Amino acid sequence: MTIFSPGATIGIIGGGQLGRMTALAAANLGFKIHTYCPEHDCPAAQVSNEVTVASYLDHQKIAEFAAVVDVATFEFENIPHETVQIIANHTVVRPGWKILHIAQNRLREKDFIKHLGIGTAPYQAIDSNEALQDAAASLGFPCILKTTELGYDGKGQYILRSATDIDALAINFQPGAYILEGFVDYDKEISVVLARSVNGEISCFAPTENHHKNGILDISIAPAAIAPAIATMAQAMASTLAENLELVGMMAVEFFVTKNQQLLVNEIAPRPHNSGHWTIDACITSQFEQFVRSVCGLPFGSNALHSRAIMQNLIGDQVLSWPDFISEPATKLHIYGKADVKAGRKMGHVTRLLPL
Ligand code: AMP
Repeated sequence: MTIFSPGATIGIIGGGQLGRMTALAAANLGFKIHTYCPEHDCPAAQVSNEVTVASYLDHQKIAEFAAVVDVATFEFENIPHETVQIIANHTVVRPGWKILHIAQNRLREKDFIKHLGIGTAPYQAIDSNEALQDAAASLGFPCILKTTELGYDGKGQYILRSATDIDALAINFQPGAYILEGFVDYDKEISVVLARSVNGEISCFAPTENHHKNGILDISIAPAAIAPAIATMAQAMASTLAENLELVGMMAVEFFVTKNQQLLVNEIAPRPHNSGHWTIDACITSQFEQFVRSVCGLPFGSNALHSRAIMQNLIGDQVLSWPDFISEPATKLHIYGKADVKAGRKMGHVTRLLPL
């Protein structure tokens, strides 16, 4: 197993806030970061040693990038297979293609989870209006139609409350493009963020309770107020997924806790996760440092909490209230350096720390 030492260059595909916070953690350990992203002045570029600004489909630029980094990773999962393959031809890539391939597609993801005997919301693949009518009749209303690929923060999702909502949809269904999910009447949403090392060691952070607004994560509370048995079960299920996905790196597993205290997996993300941002300020080792350690083949730091935490995303113009947040002595303010404030855009976050 190749180990990378301080001084080595980690290449990160993607230039958003996850890349930025990874770069900051990497710098603390003496690593260099080379960011590859399609936009100029992205959040990660502002704190990276090197930046390549090019399309993910520019095979020449991808190959040049891969040739100059020591190890490569991703801060988001929607990378074309050919791009990953080109990088892998030149350098070590962690995590590997398998987990990206599965996490890129909700249908593959749910089939994989189900195959391991882990629960999900009931679902059916949809490739025609008739299939949607039949699936809605069998899953019942309300139900949620989702694109299988490229949906995030509630994008590409339609809540269907009655047959009239189906009639109102103007979708030209293509094979494999949509999935219909039964609506889970959940008690709570939680997530488990974990790292897995090249040796298969797993480090699970405490489960986090998540509250969404308009399909976007609003607040994360850590640790989640759930029974210890549920917390242990969620960590065990997330670990089983990580092992079977042969993860080396970070992964988040989002769960619904149903009213009868069953755990259903909603989705997985093979990278650091918004619901793990609180770990920067409330844990001995953050998710971003653990990510760098796993990608570089280094031992994990303790993921123990030294505080409880409530993380609030600063979406759109919420970031303009930064003077209020910075005046709160036990609140840590993080701003991502995005030039334009746009509605629905994650501009930063704050973590309020509370005694354990
Ligand atoms: P997703 O993009 O799949 O993570 O969905 C975003 C949010 O929509 C979730 O965090 C839930 O709050 C809600 N949601 C998604 N799928 C379901 C479902 N099957 N049942 C109930 N709520 C859901």
